Amino acid sequence: MASTAASSSASQVGGLPWIDCPKYKIQVIRRKSKAGNMYYTCPNNFSNDDTCANYWFEDQYLAYLCANHPDKLMSKWKVYRALLLLLRFKA
Ligand SMILES: [Zn+2]
Repeated sequence: MASTAASSSASQVGGLPWIDCPKYKIQVIRRKSKAGNMYYTCPNNFSNDDTCANYWFEDQYLAYLCANHPDKLMSKWKVYRALLLLLRFKA
């Protein structure tokens, strides 16, 4: 029995609260990039269209939440802990 790869998830925070795109006021969606990184994007963000260019990689999204929606972060202690870990990472 070979163990399956357990890579690519160590840096994924996950479980972050959803917010609305500041431009279109519709809820962002979570996607996985070709490189395997999770990111959050506006549903109006299309690769062949610049309708809305809003997207955030997970750490950027966390920073954005922290700056603009701290109330949502505080309501989830798990996320708050993740934020602390992230900040510690960057320090
Ligand atoms: Zn948008």
